[in-house]
Amino acid sequence: MITPFDDTYFMKKALQEADEAFSKGEVPVGAVIVIKDRIIARAHNLTEQLNDVTAHAEMQAITAAANFLGGKYLKDCTLYVTLEPCQMCAGALYWSQISKIVYGARDLERGFGVMGTKLHPKTTIEGGVLEKEASEILKRFFIQKRNLN
Ligand SMILES: [Zn+2]
Repeated sequence: MITPFDDTYFMKKALQEADEAFSKGEVPVGAVIVIKDRIIARAHNLTEQLNDVTAHAEMQAITAAANFLGGKYLKDCTLYVTLEPCQMCAGALYWSQISKIVYGARDLERGFGVMGTKLHPKTTIEGGVLEKEASEILKRFFIQKRNLN
């Protein structure tokens, strides 16, 4: 039997959050946090609306998931995020001890990989899930933004 709850399924949920960010004029990055096939946090980038450079999708998802669980550690949780986390988010994810991170598009400029940020040794990572969709929405956003200026 094939479970509908695979990485693609949850990444699509994260992409819906990215769409939400796009419609608000925010850089379209979305995230969900999942435990036992259940979404416990949904978030998208809100740096413009909140006037806060730390309001990345992952940061908000971490806080929401910890609130939901009533504990600060995100053991047994998986984060799905449409763009490779930056070093700030990777640092926060380190502290959360999250079990797994799945991301869509790579960020070769500001991703944690190129920045050399270490994740927690308990965290496993997987990249490139729905990569095309995740990078396409970002491209579309920046093209539109350029045309408006
Ligand atoms: Zn970030």
